[in-house]
Amino acid sequence: MKTKLEDNTNNILFEPIKINCLEVKNRIFMPAMHLNMCKDFGITDRLINFYSKRAQGGAGAITLGYATVDELSGGPNCIGAHHDRFIPGLARAVKAIKDNNALAFVQINHAGRYAPSSKIKKQPVAPSAIASRLTGETPKALTFDEIDQVIQRFAKAALRVKQAGFDGVEVLSGTGYLISEFLSPLTNRREDEYGKTFENRMRFGLKIIKEIKKKVGPAFPIIVRINGNDFMSGGNTREELKSYAVKLADAGADALNINVGWHEARVPQIVASVPRAVFVYLARGVKSLVDIPVIAGHRINTPDIAREVIENEMCDMAAMGRALLADPDLPDKALTGRSEEIIHCIGCAQGCFDHVQTGKPVECLVNPLAGHENKYIFKKTKKPKRIMIIGAGAAGMSAALSAAASGHDVSLYEKTDQTGGQLFLAAAPPGREEFMEFAKDLNNQLIVNGIETKFNQEIDLSFIIKEKPEKVILATGAVPFSPPIKGSDLPHVVQGWDVLGNRVRTGRRVVVIGAGAVGVETALYLAKKGALSADDVKFLIVNRAEDPEFISEQASKGSKEVVLIEMTDKIGRDIGISTRWTMIQELSRCNVQVHTSTMAKSINKSGVSTEKEGKSYEIEADTIVMAVGSQPYNPLEKGLREQGIPYEVIGDAGKIGMAFDAVHSGFAAGYNL
Ligand code: SF4
Repeated sequence: MKTKLEDNTNNILFEPIKINCLEVKNRIFMPAMHLNMCKDFGITDRLINFYSKRAQGGAGAITLGYATVDELSGGPNCIGAHHDRFIPGLARAVKAIKDNNALAFVQINHAGRYAPSSKIKKQPVAPSAIASRLTGETPKALTFDEIDQVIQRFAKAALRVKQAGFDGVEVLSGTGYLISEFLSPLTNRREDEYGKTFENRMRFGLKIIKEIKKKVGPAFPIIVRINGNDFMSGGNTREELKSYAVKLADAGADALNINVGWHEARVPQIVASVPRAVFVYLARGVKSLVDIPVIAGHRINTPDIAREVIENEMCDMAAMGRALLADPDLPDKALTGRSEEIIHCIGCAQGCFDHVQTGKPVECLVNPLAGHENKYIFKKTKKPKRIMIIGAGAAGMSAALSAAASGHDVSLYEKTDQTGGQLFLAAAPPGREEFMEFAKDLNNQLIVNGIETKFNQEIDLSFIIKEKPEKVILATGAVPFSPPIKGSDLPHVVQGWDVLGNRVRTGRRVVVIGAGAVGVETALYLAKKGALSADDVKFLIVNRAEDPEFISEQASKGSKEVVLIEMTDKIGRDIGISTRWTMIQELSRCNVQVHTSTMAKSINKSGVSTEKEGKSYEIEADTIVMAVGSQPYNPLEKGLREQGIPYEVIGDAGKIGMAFDAVHSGFAAGYNL
């Protein structure tokens, strides 16, 4: 979906819409995202500043959450809505959003068996005592009376949300949390009126909506977030979920927000390889059955895509969560004809989901300000410095932007003829193309901010001395590491970076040595060579030319035989937690043979000699790819130190890290000059 509409006069994205009797000024809906910014269930200034910024940027409605309904429903890093003492904090948040002309909702939820006992300090509860693959814990089955209490607690939490001044409430009834656990035969084995049949399994969720309606009154909007597909084998079918949607509308839901997948599902939902807006078909299925607004989400990261899915009547509003994390000003930029300035979410998960899963507050790779709205306050300095930045990769460009925003005189030098550096390598494997988008966005920001990049400039010390900068920022990146393996100088040995950069040819049988991020990406890149493209697949499917199993196999497996060897017992150790499992799953689907705890001892004309657990064996190959890591490339530091010229080293030139580290270290260096 790539169409553009420059004139916003007829842009449906900016037309108001009603949810119950509430008018939302546009169709951009910021869905609930767990931010890990609460303390003891309390709203913090950090969270308020985060949402205040998103409201200022022009989103029509913003949903906080999730918020708890009782003490077993979530840990203290959730927003609390299970006691009246949380109402003043909620009221502070709602004021910050409404003062900035957006509507404010809170999502309430009970995590059920997904709530870890380490967080809630008790055994989690669920419809039945069936262990969760997510936590490994077996919950306690709720008694009949306890179910009634939980329903009442949902209603009371909704009332607190109303008392705090919010415009409406959202109930989370998907993703594998408690309400969906009641709905699914996988997790509900009850024999009473809440189990056995689909009619009965819907009862818990429907009662909650009816009780909330009674408590908050008919005019207070209730949105229900449901799944269009659980992607859980043996669980609810898509058709069952559609009929549940209809029942929810009958029970009093004023809008439906269509989500996808459980946390245990093995279909990727959030990472860069998920095509943009791919799950909107599920919202379309629901929209055809109900008369209330339907919201669609997941990888809608441009205003053009949002407009298109609404215009095509697949949904009524677009949920843009990470899109607004990446660029809170996306709505205003789109509205005022500045779409080219938008910084897009690239689905990397490095700052958001990876942080949530490791207990850290949410940040963003492409937006160093996210989560730090009050830390970086840009004022033009009264004493601008002359700054030389050497290297226009992600770190160097980020440093240039923050230094220029502070009023410094920035000169940015790049030895090649393009900006972006290693982002181009990160973007090479199939499904990672979004990293290229970030390279473009950074370059656009340089242009918009009037920062000129001096290309094809290999900077040496004498040039720096002549220029007399007041500070030099070294962002010269990294080079591949070459381990002293016998035979690594043979002509059929190439570097992973050169493979990803499409600078070398590889044979049919390839061994990739090293299974860190670059090794895994290179193996996938090679394993997909010769596989069916997305267009090929579509053509063959719509024409029913081949059977779906065969097409699936041909789309997954390319024409090369790829072997990935790794000396440790873990592959992809430097890939973010949210993305790693999807890449490992992909390696298996692409038929890449993975050998862990395997040492490459030497390389010869016919392949690689390896050793595993004291046993030696040969792997035949036409091409050997070295992907054993990288090392800082920093040839200028010593000279600057000796000359007494102030400098700072950022990104991989200082310490090898992820793209997130490069961007954030660069941005901080430019800001702290
Ligand atoms: Fe998007 Fe990555 Fe930012 Fe998360 S960290 S919002 S996935 S760009």
